[in-house]
Amino acid sequence: MPAKTQDIVARVLARCDQLAQFSELEDGVLRQYLTPEHRAANQQVAQWLNDAGLMSWQDSVGNQWGRLPAAKENVPRLILGSHLDTVPFAGKYDGILGVLLAVELLSYFSDQAPLPFHLDVVGFADEEGTRFGTTLIGSKALAGQFASHWLQLTDRSGTTMADALQEFGLSADQTSAATLNARDILAYWEVHIEQGPVLEALQQPLGVVSGIAGAKRAHIRIQGQAGHAGTTPMHMRQDALAGAAELIQFIETSARGGQHQEVATVGNVNVKPGAANVIAGACTLTLDVRALNDADRDALVLRIEAFAQQMAAQRQLNCEFDWYHEAPAVLCNNHIQQQFHQAARNAGLQIPTLPSGAGHDAMAVASVAPVGMLFLRSPGGISHHPDERVIADDIGLAFNVMKEALMLQALK
Ligand SMILES: [Zn+2]
Repeated sequence: MPAKTQDIVARVLARCDQLAQFSELEDGVLRQYLTPEHRAANQQVAQWLNDAGLMSWQDSVGNQWGRLPAAKENVPRLILGSHLDTVPFAGKYDGILGVLLAVELLSYFSDQAPLPFHLDVVGFADEEGTRFGTTLIGSKALAGQFASHWLQLTDRSGTTMADALQEFGLSADQTSAATLNARDILAYWEVHIEQGPVLEALQQPLGVVSGIAGAKRAHIRIQGQAGHAGTTPMHMRQDALAGAAELIQFIETSARGGQHQEVATVGNVNVKPGAANVIAGACTLTLDVRALNDADRDALVLRIEAFAQQMAAQRQLNCEFDWYHEAPAVLCNNHIQQQFHQAARNAGLQIPTLPSGAGHDAMAVASVAPVGMLFLRSPGGISHHPDERVIADDIGLAFNVMKEALMLQALK
């Protein structure tokens, strides 16, 4: 790595450490929406931007912005960024790395010939949804999707989002001022850690994201008949848990057999009455199904529902699906994907394409702008955990690829 890139990587890593200090927890990282820690992180990022001679401002929902202005005034903006909030006991890089890398890119281009577009960085205020239970608040506000009923959502201490905005120095009736006009946005590019094991398994530092999987979530209720574990003969049972086990097995097998990288997960089982000497009378399972294509996801859902009804009929159980969450898949822009691949080749790399199973701000921004994402490998596939790591050399490579991609964009 050239000395200049080494300096950039060292600065990004040191700043990730520094932002991790703005935490609500003594023994881990937690930075939630509209907290003093959120404010401190925004102010710190603004300071770094200003130190580099760049503009900075905070918008009406608390997203932190910076800009390297174009030579001309009336040109669209290309937005680089990610989020600055975290889950409880988070790592230091999820979201944050993408923002700090963007700050470096603005800083780098401020020493070059002016770009034909404004180069913006955004640090979204809330992606994880940790405080108010609704995700992507910052990026949805940008996309004009801030729902007014969110203002009445409360955090664990009973504070409404409206009051929290007020305390933060913002106003509940100004949230729409954060919305950008689609005409003014050239594109949104996000660099993020993969949060999964795929790139590491491929021994690749980076990957171009093809899209963000759509998800559907359900509670599955299986009703049987509780009974004495000693006196009820096996052929006379309506065992809800045995039925659930069969269904879970089918869910895993059918997702594994899918041709489109579908994933399906039962993450929780609740059994009633839940005693060693009682046959399970009822079971509630959670189900999470994701795929890069909504039709593939829905086809898998149909297979699971059909099997569940067949299993229930055979075992004389009742089985109901309660679908409570649905997010459509979002594809990354094809031209941007090709541009990132070309940029990687210009930087001397051949990198793979992979889908994202996790949600990202780019999902919300995609409704108003073409989006592109670049993943960095996650050692051990670990994220949302203090052990989350990045490899220093990978940060240098990501910087080079994004720099090349911006140079390609400037030539368009
Ligand atoms: Zn993230």
